[in-house]
Amino acid sequence: MERINLNNLVLEMSTHLRPISEKEKEYAKTIFPSTGYYKKSGEVWCHCCGNIEYQIPGILEVDLELGYQCSCLNHLILEQNQQKDNLTESKYYSVVHTYNKWQVIRTFYVQRINHKGYPTKYTINEVYQNWVSPDGEEIIVSKRYTRGVNFFKWYYDTEYVIRKHNKSCNGYYVLEDVFDVTGNYFYPDYNITRKLRKYGWCKAIEKLPYVSVVECMKMLLVSRHAETIVKQGQYDVFLWMVRSNKQDLEYMPQMNICHRNHYVITDASIYFDTLSFMNMTGKDIHNPKFICPDDLYKAHEIALASYKKIEKKVTEEEKRKKAEKENKVYVKEKEKFFGIRITDGELSIQVLQSVLEFIDEGDSMHHCVYENEYYKKKDSLILSAKVNGERMETVEVSLKTFKVIQSRAACNKTSAYHNRIIELVNRNMGLIRRAAS
Ligand SMILES: [Zn+2]
Repeated sequence: MERINLNNLVLEMSTHLRPISEKEKEYAKTIFPSTGYYKKSGEVWCHCCGNIEYQIPGILEVDLELGYQCSCLNHLILEQNQQKDNLTESKYYSVVHTYNKWQVIRTFYVQRINHKGYPTKYTINEVYQNWVSPDGEEIIVSKRYTRGVNFFKWYYDTEYVIRKHNKSCNGYYVLEDVFDVTGNYFYPDYNITRKLRKYGWCKAIEKLPYVSVVECMKMLLVSRHAETIVKQGQYDVFLWMVRSNKQDLEYMPQMNICHRNHYVITDASIYFDTLSFMNMTGKDIHNPKFICPDDLYKAHEIALASYKKIEKKVTEEEKRKKAEKENKVYVKEKEKFFGIRITDGELSIQVLQSVLEFIDEGDSMHHCVYENEYYKKKDSLILSAKVNGERMETVEVSLKTFKVIQSRAACNKTSAYHNRIIELVNRNMGLIRRAAS
């Protein structure tokens, strides 16, 4: 069907969806943290229900450690705050439904509104829908909205119109993709179409971290390899395919060998790097003895070492010349990202500025970012995350999906900053999108 017809079909279908159930509505209240404010006098103000209760100061001190049990049965974490009498928190909440063989991910803007002395009020308004056709095509509809640097406002009473993912930005502002459901809270029971179930959709996919459920659905419907990968239980490979938007796997025969040998890949990007080193150094990558290692990181280290040995034969002079030549191409391609500085005060994250920096980063972190020629990857951006000038992790961002594909500390391990780094990069993805556009 033509796109324009599909758009009209979706606009039409969106008017026929049932209202969300009471259960789905009730669940929306639980996505907010159980918090409350206390005063030294012993007053406790619950943000879940709005109750104001009183506690004897001595016991209050115990509550501050253990948390306070409100009469609404929520176990509150208490925070001191004497100034605020009004508090509005908002979150995006999604439910996964089906309609006429389509998937529809319906997103609601949920607010928890507290005025001291009144019961807590919850509002829930549907604001956009991501529709996924049986062929894996995505169509988005949303209510009208306005936004600027520090504000965002939905107009709940407006009609749905067709939208696109905001892959680039306008004007001076860095704008996030409004219709990316990755960070949303989800109602835990998903309705899934028969086709997606047949293709292998399961709970394990719903639990994959830092990835959009919409992208997972599209990948499973569109890729000729994804179904096999999921049915073989290789969820980390599937996750890697979605994050880097790779619909075709070049090592499919190896996946089948893994499957026959009950070998589960827990770290897909390291696994495929290892395979490519083995391939480049003439190892038999059809032999399960090599490609199903008990210790993947060890195997990766060995494969990298033997690659380096071969590479060492190339004289230093040639290597330098090679780096210089390759650097010209790298700088030309990635220069526009060099000015980006991502920081939260402690962490500082920056794009590698030359091929020589790839050599340094790889040497001091003991990983293969240089050997595997990540600087040649057109769709990848490599960043170095540092604390006080010390390298913490190397981050790969996909320029196709604008997601973090991987983030690695020394020897491919993770640092204490791992989650913070991923979240910080994701939060600042607008800067990268903007430079890319
Ligand atoms: Zn309460």
